[in-house]
Amino acid sequence: MFCKNCGAEIMDEAVMCPKCGVMTDGTKAEPPKQETPVPQSYPFNVIALIGFIFSFLYPIPGLICSIIGRKESQKLGGNGEAFAKAGLIISIVELSISVLAVISVCVLSVVYVAIMIAMIGSTGAPM
Ligand SMILES: [Zn+2]
Repeated sequence: MFCKNCGAEIMDEAVMCPKCGVMTDGTKAEPPKQETPVPQSYPFNVIALIGFIFSFLYPIPGLICSIIGRKESQKLGGNGEAFAKAGLIISIVELSISVLAVISVCVLSVVYVAIMIAMIGSTGAPM
């Protein structure tokens, strides 16, 4: 048989059209009830948590996620604010450590080169 509503071919024993959801006797079927309403934003501040986790491994995306997570937490009434704050602090600390590490490596290599030049100079090697 064919659906009275959309004309799609359906099985004779079918109670409801699989295409449009209208009952084969012509009555409109109730739309399937949604278990949970789709929230506008996550009920839990996922981005803050991601930022917190990332801050340990990748400080730059961790910092970005934490900043977003902090903004998100304001929308969610403080949800995940602790994670966002912790992520922010850890990211900044990690970034400073990385920057300090890079600077110290640069300084050390300059010092090393300077010492080498001084040593070569002091041994009286011909210039
Ligand atoms: Zn139909």
